[in-house]
Amino acid sequence: MIIKKSRDEIELMARAGQVVAKAHEALMEALEPGMTTLDLDRIGEKVIRGEGAVPSFKGYRGFPGSVCTSKNEQIVHGIPSDTVRLEEGDIISLDVGAIVEGFHGDSATTLIVGGEDTVSDEVATLVRETRNALWRGLEQVRHGSRLGDIGSAVEAVAEAHGYGLVREYVGHGIGRALHEDPSVPNYGQAGRGMKLTKGWVIAVEPMFNLGTERTRTLDDDWTVVTADGKVSAHWEHTVAVTPDGPWVLTARSDEPAHPLTEGVPTW
Ligand code: MG
Ligand code: MG
Repeated sequence: MIIKKSRDEIELMARAGQVVAKAHEALMEALEPGMTTLDLDRIGEKVIRGEGAVPSFKGYRGFPGSVCTSKNEQIVHGIPSDTVRLEEGDIISLDVGAIVEGFHGDSATTLIVGGEDTVSDEVATLVRETRNALWRGLEQVRHGSRLGDIGSAVEAVAEAHGYGLVREYVGHGIGRALHEDPSVPNYGQAGRGMKLTKGWVIAVEPMFNLGTERTRTLDDDWTVVTADGKVSAHWEHTVAVTPDGPWVLTARSDEPAHPLTEGVPTW
């Protein structure tokens, strides 16, 4: 069942989204070689609690962290640890969720530790193009468009570069629950699937791999990795369907909250 949100509820979700945005901005600012993924978790949690919000992930089905920290071949759901240290040339996906007055915001980035010069062009391009695919998907989030419009826009970017497109994990509706209906796949056919309507709020979250699309889960029962050990990138935003087009509730200060009117830069 899809739970539509009122204008007031979307305003609350925007507050949650902006807490998430602030946490990501702090993480981008702080990230440097030598840090552990637990250091990043603590930074994220501090920002969330400092804003009077609650981390969405901490305790979610027993997840121990406030930030999912997925390094290199890890796709999603990496557990923060004081034994996982980040070095130049690593990439790290950071997934952050926050709750404000019962409503969640959910957003992920993939950052290059030490900057683009420390990785191959292949890896830098994977990170950039996964972000581009997210925005190609977000542009499709309009009243009257269909889930297949989002999926096909994302999939087209993966296909153009020959990336492995993760199908086992998908985007989702979001609201008072972190995961609500509908599922929002990163593949599909334009013009097919459920019709989006005003009041929907969804998370769009492409995951692209340099190699195979196949995944496996580590013995910790959380961390999802690529089956071939090649690196993976993940970008995510929470977005509302409004009469004026998509409202990206988790947009950071360097990103357009209203991409249809503000335009979308190419990263
Ligand atoms: Mg997320
Ligand atoms: Mg999500």
